[in-house]
Amino acid sequence: MSDDFELETLALHAGVHRSQFNEHSEALYLTSSFVFDNAAQAAARFSGAEPGNVYSRFTNPTVTAFEERLAALEGAEVCVATASGMSAILACVMGLLSAGDHIVASRSLFGSTLNLFNNILKRFGVEITFVSPTDLAEWQAAVKVNTKLFFIETPSNPLTEISDITALASLAKKTGAWLAVDNCFCSPILQRPLDLGADIVIHSATKYLEGQGRVLGGAVLGKRDLIMEKGVFGFLRTAGPTLSAFNAWVILKGMETLKIRMDTHSANALEMARWLEIQPNVTKVYYPGLSSHPQHNLAKHQQRTGGGIVSFEVKGGKEVAWRVIDTTCMISITANLGDTKSTLTHPASTTHSRISQEERDAAGINDGLLRIAVGLESVKDIKADLARGLKVL
Ligand SMILES: *Cc1c(COP(=O)(O)O)cnc(C)c1O
Repeated sequence: MSDDFELETLALHAGVHRSQFNEHSEALYLTSSFVFDNAAQAAARFSGAEPGNVYSRFTNPTVTAFEERLAALEGAEVCVATASGMSAILACVMGLLSAGDHIVASRSLFGSTLNLFNNILKRFGVEITFVSPTDLAEWQAAVKVNTKLFFIETPSNPLTEISDITALASLAKKTGAWLAVDNCFCSPILQRPLDLGADIVIHSATKYLEGQGRVLGGAVLGKRDLIMEKGVFGFLRTAGPTLSAFNAWVILKGMETLKIRMDTHSANALEMARWLEIQPNVTKVYYPGLSSHPQHNLAKHQQRTGGGIVSFEVKGGKEVAWRVIDTTCMISITANLGDTKSTLTHPASTTHSRISQEERDAAGINDGLLRIAVGLESVKDIKADLARGLKVL
C-alpha cells in the first residue's frame, strides 16, 4: 500500500490480500502446510525459485498480512512476526550477533529482557554493558571495538524515562553498531523510531497492537538486508518461535482500532496524571506528557503524546500502595498493559521483586510506587476507583 496514506488508514487497509472468495474481513489461514500442483512446483517452492507458501513456520498468508500492516505503520521495509515480544528480542540478538560481540543496553529494560541479556546471552559469549537510558556520555564511554548493538526501550517501564532516539542513532552509526528500539509503550501511532534513525524496531504485539489482552505476539522490523539477509528471519524459520496464524489474525483485527485506542489511552492518561499530581497522598507522578517530567521537551519532539502509562508514588510506602490496589473494585490488578481495561500494579513486589533492594533503590523503584496502564473507561470512574485508597486517613 502507498506510503501516502495516513496511519489510521494503513491500520485498516495495509496487508489486505483477498482470496478467490473476495471476503471483506481478513481470512484466517489456519493451516500448517500448503499443497503444490506437482513435484516440480514443490521443488521450486522449496528452493525459493518460485515464491509462495510452503510451511507455516516459514510463512503463512495471515501472518504475512499482519507483517505488512505493521511494516506500513512503522515505515519499515520489512517486518517479521514472532510468537511473543520476547521471541522478537531473541530473534534480533540471535540473528544478528555472535559470540564475542558486545551490546550496550539501557538499564531500564523490561524484566525478561534484562534476564535474557544477563543470564542467557552471557552463556553464549555475548557481552553486555548496562547504562543510563538518559545519559549519552555513559553510552559513549561504554562503546568498545566489538560493540554491535545498542538496545533501548522508550519510555521506560515503570518510570517513563525518555531515551533520545536521534542522538543514540547517530552515536550508533559512528560506532558501527545497530540501534534497536523496543517500541511497545508507544506503538507506531505515537512514535516511529525508524524515522528518527533507529535500525531496528521491536514489538510485543501482546500489548497495544493487539489491544485487548487476548493473545501473545511480537515483531522485528527494519531494512530488508538486516532483517531478511543478515539472519533474523533465518533464525526464526529454523528455530521456530514464529507467530501462529490465529494470533496473527487476532492482532491484525485489533490493529484496526489502534489509532483511536492510542488517542483515548493518551488523553485519559494525561487527565489521570494531572489529577494524581494534585492528590495530597501522592508525592510524585511520572508521565512524559506532564510539563513537570524532566524530559517533557524531548518526549514532545519524538512522541505524538505522552502515551497510556502513568506511574506515581504514594506517601506511606508499601502499606498505602497496597491499600490503593486492594480498595479498587473496577481496575484490574495485573501486570499486563496496553489493554482496553485499566490495569494497576505495584512494581516493587511484582515485576521488579526478583532484583535486590539495592538494585531497586538504584533504579528508583521504591515501595510506594504504583503503575497504572490507563484504559478506555470513563476517567471519572478510574479516578473514583483510585481515590478510595488514596484518601488521607
Ligand atoms: C511485555 C513486554 C515485552 C515482552 O513481550 P511478550 O509478548 O510478553 O513476550 C517486551 N518489552 C516490553 C517493553 C514489554 O512491555
